Amino acid sequence: MTHKYGIILHGGAGRYRLFTKEFIEKRKQELKKAALYSFDELKKGSALDAVEAAVEYMEDSGLFNAGKGSSLTITKEVEMDAGIMDGKTLRCGAVACVKSIKNPIKLARLVLEKTDHIFLAGPGAEKVAEILGMKREPIVVTSEKIRKFEKAFRLWLKGKWGTHLFRLKTIYRDFIEGTVGAVAIDKYRNIAAATSTGGYSLKLPGRIGDTPLVGCGFYADNSAGGASATGIGEYLTLIFACKTACDFMRQGVSAMKAAEATIDILTRRFGLHTGGIITVDPMGRLGFAYNTQGMSKSIMTSGMSEPAVAVFPEEDHIMLKFIKK
Ligand code: ASP
Repeated sequence: MTHKYGIILHGGAGRYRLFTKEFIEKRKQELKKAALYSFDELKKGSALDAVEAAVEYMEDSGLFNAGKGSSLTITKEVEMDAGIMDGKTLRCGAVACVKSIKNPIKLARLVLEKTDHIFLAGPGAEKVAEILGMKREPIVVTSEKIRKFEKAFRLWLKGKWGTHLFRLKTIYRDFIEGTVGAVAIDKYRNIAAATSTGGYSLKLPGRIGDTPLVGCGFYADNSAGGASATGIGEYLTLIFACKTACDFMRQGVSAMKAAEATIDILTRRFGLHTGGIITVDPMGRLGFAYNTQGMSKSIMTSGMSEPAVAVFPEEDHIMLKFIKK
C-alpha cells in the first residue's frame, strides 16, 4: 500500500515483556496521541514539522526515555541527545549531552535552521540555545527516577550481572528505556526523520550514542528514504543503521524490507536484543523491524481513520495491514 502522506513513530525497542500491562497500555495511548498530534502537522504539508511535533510530544510525555522521562547517568544526571534531518535539502541538526533543555529536538531543529553547523554538544549547545531564545529548563529528577537508579546502581556495583551495561539493560526491569523517533513523508514527497533519547541508565557522563549521529540514529534523503533507530547505540552506530536502511531503499528495496535487512545485519553482528528501526521509502511505504522482545510503534497515513499501534510481534498484524512489503 502506498500512501499520499504518512508518519511512523517509535517509542523504543527493548524488553517489553518485563513491563507491566498497565505501563505498556499507557505507552500505547501516548503513541496514539503523538501520532494524531503529528499527523495534524503533516496534513498542513511539512514532514519536517511533523517529525519534530511527534518527538516533541513524546519528550513532554514523561513515559519515554527522552526529554522529561530521560534516564540518569552514573553520576545521577540527565544528558540528552537528539537529531533531525530534512530529506529534501539534506540539512540536519543535532545536539548531544544537553542537560537543561526541555525539548532537545527543538534545539536540534534550531541548529538545522539557524546555524551553519549540524552538531552541537554540551555547554556550547546550551549556550547557543539561550542565544537563539530558548529558555533553559533543567529536567526534574523525580524520586521515581532516583529509586530506579539506586536499584540499578546497587546491582551493577555488586557485579551481579557483570559490569557490562548492555547485559544489565537487557535483563533488568527498572532500566529506563524508550528512545523516541519519527519518520514521515508529506504530500510533496518530502521525507524527514527525527530521534531523541536520554541514552540509557548508568551510562558514563559524556557518553554519546547513535541517536544524534547522522546516519546512525536518524537519516533522511528524498531520493532514498528516511529512518529512525533505537536500541544499543554503540552497535547501531557501528553499522550506521539509518544510512544502511536508506541505502537499501535507494536501490529500490521497500521500506519494510530495508528495515528487515538492516536489523538482520545488526543481529548477525551483535546478536538479538540489540535494536529496532522504522523507515519510510520515497513511494510512501512504511516499514519497521526489531530483534528485541518488542518495539512500541504507531502509524498514521492519509488512508487511515485512526492510528494503528503495536508493541509485540503477535500484535504487529494490526500495523502490517496498512503496510506493503
Ligand atoms: N539508542 C539509544 C542510545 O543508545 C538508546 C535506545 O534507543 O534505547 O542512546
